[in-house]
Amino acid sequence: MTEKALPFNLKELREIVRDFPTPFYIYDEEAIRRTARDFSAAFEWAPNGFRNYYAVKACPNPWILKILGEEGMGTDSSSIAELILSEAAGITGENAFFTSNNTPLQEYLKAKEIGAVINLDDITHIAYLEQIGLPKTLSFRYNPGPLKEGNDIIGKPEEAKYGLTREQMIEAYRIAKAKGVERFGIHTMVASNELNPDYFVETADLLLQLLADVTEQTGVTIDFINFGGGIGIPYRPEETAVDMARVSKGIKRRYTEYIVNGALKPPIINFECGRYVTGPHGYLVTEAIHEKHIYKEYIGVNASMADMMRPGMYGAYHHITVMGKENSPATETYDVVGSLCENNDKFAIDRKLPPIERGDLVVIHDTGAHGRSMGFNYNGKLRPAELLFQEDGTVREIRRRENLDDYFATLEYPGLS
Ligand SMILES: *Cc1c(COP(=O)(O)O)cnc(C)c1O
Repeated sequence: MTEKALPFNLKELREIVRDFPTPFYIYDEEAIRRTARDFSAAFEWAPNGFRNYYAVKACPNPWILKILGEEGMGTDSSSIAELILSEAAGITGENAFFTSNNTPLQEYLKAKEIGAVINLDDITHIAYLEQIGLPKTLSFRYNPGPLKEGNDIIGKPEEAKYGLTREQMIEAYRIAKAKGVERFGIHTMVASNELNPDYFVETADLLLQLLADVTEQTGVTIDFINFGGGIGIPYRPEETAVDMARVSKGIKRRYTEYIVNGALKPPIINFECGRYVTGPHGYLVTEAIHEKHIYKEYIGVNASMADMMRPGMYGAYHHITVMGKENSPATETYDVVGSLCENNDKFAIDRKLPPIERGDLVVIHDTGAHGRSMGFNYNGKLRPAELLFQEDGTVREIRRRENLDDYFATLEYPGLS
């Protein structure tokens, strides 16, 4: 069970809404910092250190990246814009990781420019990257194929487009070493939003085993091992957060077995989690603007799937709190909808909620990762602002809402821009 608490009450939120009109995203700084610290603390045992590279795509706002940087995290990027955001937040060099796929050369160029660790998604990219000169440090992404069961969002590894096969991994390190690369990492990511702690331990086992094989067969020393992202969060109240102590303990046992007992150089331990770090600490604040009674009961809010597409895209559950009615009995069954001309524009379907009236503040939970960043402008919808609920209780606008000029900015048409 997970309690779906909020960092503010109705009165406090009303005050925020007075200054910043809904809809907006608001992120809880204190909770983000606490999660970041706890994550690192769970891996304190790592003999050569631990670092999570926060996946920028989860919440691409430099203010958030800066906070995470202060807590010792790096960034994981996969585009030029994400690399620039990381750089702006002061996160460069080996604190920046670049895990991309089907990568254009300009992106590698930018990654090299900020000194990010480049994590190659394919063996042919060694030659491709050579066009701009191989960096001194390289990492490769492993796709374990049928060795590993998939999960719902990312799918079965053998059907996923990512990474190198086992044979290619060995070959890739051999080639890169011959071409003068001096420092190596190894990476995999086979799950998304996975809540089973043992899944990560099994993945770590596979990757540690491969690390040992690579070293044995190529003589390459691996300096860091990156277990990817994908640690899930309990979106539903009846779900439970991943027991990080259990993940850490399981990984420690395998690490000891392969690295310590195998007398290998202890690699730095890395993850690339986005969702786990900020997901539970962001809220999409909307207002009920309509109620509609036809074959079903509808509540229309002033945000839409264009602001937060996970329910529409994945059928994902996001908990909803009606502010001020936290303890009222959930006597109604609503579809909570946005205004897109798409019938999957629903934040909730057949959700039991207390009676909602126009003007009620309706808060959508767990939108601190893959929330605003997945948004879009379909139907001419303007994207919402982002606010930071700071540790001292004050609110800072860290991204303003879009206006019509933003929407028309790329058009060359008289009277529009
Ligand atoms: C999306 C992604 C992540 C982050 O995933 P989370 O579910 O937010 O942890 C990390 N690494 C790669 C390569 C990704 O594509």
